[in-house]
Amino acid sequence: MSISSRPQRGRAGGAVRSSHYSRSASSRRHGASGARTQGRPTHHGGARTRSRGGYNSSRRAQGRPQQRGRRKDAPIDISRFINENVAPNATPDVYEPIHTFSDFALLPQLAQAVAHKGYVTPTPIQDKTIPHILRGCDIVGLANTGSGKTAAFLIPLIQKLLLVPDEQILVLAPTRELALQIEEEFVGLTRSLRLHSVVLVGGMPIGPQMRRLRSHNHLIVGTPGRVMDLMERRSLSLAHTKTVVLDEADRMLDMGFIGDMRTILATMSQSRHTLFFSATLSKEIEKLVHEFLCDPVTVSVRTRDTSKNVHQSVIKVNGRDKVDILHELLVQKDFGKVIVFGRTKHGVEKLSRLLSKRGIKSESIHGNKTHNQRVRSLEAFKRGRAQALIATDVAARGLDIPNVSHVINFDLPGTHDDYIHRIGRTGRADKSGFAITLVD
Ligand code: AMP
Repeated sequence: MSISSRPQRGRAGGAVRSSHYSRSASSRRHGASGARTQGRPTHHGGARTRSRGGYNSSRRAQGRPQQRGRRKDAPIDISRFINENVAPNATPDVYEPIHTFSDFALLPQLAQAVAHKGYVTPTPIQDKTIPHILRGCDIVGLANTGSGKTAAFLIPLIQKLLLVPDEQILVLAPTRELALQIEEEFVGLTRSLRLHSVVLVGGMPIGPQMRRLRSHNHLIVGTPGRVMDLMERRSLSLAHTKTVVLDEADRMLDMGFIGDMRTILATMSQSRHTLFFSATLSKEIEKLVHEFLCDPVTVSVRTRDTSKNVHQSVIKVNGRDKVDILHELLVQKDFGKVIVFGRTKHGVEKLSRLLSKRGIKSESIHGNKTHNQRVRSLEAFKRGRAQALIATDVAARGLDIPNVSHVINFDLPGTHDDYIHRIGRTGRADKSGFAITLVD
């Protein structure tokens, strides 16, 4: 039985009807090109990146987009939100790695740390990138979160740090959460290796970060805004930093960090080792690759648009109250751990409060919350103290939360790429997941 028929059982509400869940009905209604959505404003206006010239204009909320321009993607096609002919628990493709970790000739202490982490076989992105990174090549890695890309760049870069302890590595990431996850992975891989790291993100007091920068850090992970701030305050100099990772570069571009990225990279050593990871390869991204990298090796592990493990369907709202529909879904038995995506920070906060009032334990995560509030919400959700996490795209980007049963698009994503990122929060680690999109 597919999810498409599940929500109707025992429901009195008229809008949640079987025809609205089924691909055939939806395709018939919308046409193959999703004509219903034509004319929907899929991009939110806003000037493209404001050039900031120098370091002196970064006194703003850190980790926040400078502007809200959206990438110019194809209009949303609702038919791409449906894949009901795919069994959610279909056997995933099995990748046969070419290498084992021992093929990489890692230093014994690092090999031990990798084994201690429980990594036995390299994931595809690790299999394909680690040998090149160890050789010092620039890399364009096309991979999503969940592919093991963090260890793909950290393992060879830790080897570099062990061989040349004076080295310093900078990792730029679009969000605080991703930056913290990267540092967590670094700490996990370097226990007892005497390597030090610091996270430079907004939403946290800047003083302790400035103090941490007084001593040598082998790894600096930060969001572009806070890194700029610290450079401006002369607490951070990257003049001798020769290795940089741009993680989720497409997202940093989307969030308007391109000016910061340019400035930061311009202050670094000219003979740079640059690793560039992105989930998508648009024309703009190709331009960035050209600008930032030197003769890179490109590796792609994106075999398909969306995970086979995610069963996608839509619910037609038909003028009903969307909160009622959401509520009806959340009280169902299988909806154990649900991420609900909303468009605006205010809307997300409001929805979380409304659901809580209705007795659904919910937490919210969006850019108006302080770092500590976001961490608390995430922890409550991860540990099962909240059933629903109501999130904006930016806040949820890159989150690796195990066992998310459902992703619900309460508001439509702005682009199909955003859709892919949203639904990628479920169906992870070979588990099956469900994505439901509410459409007018
Ligand atoms: P990432 O794409 O970097 O967010 O990684 C996703 C998850 O995969 C994380 O929980 C990692 O700890 C895990 N992981 C990374 N590499 C491996 C590996 N070789 N074997 C098993 N798990 C891994």
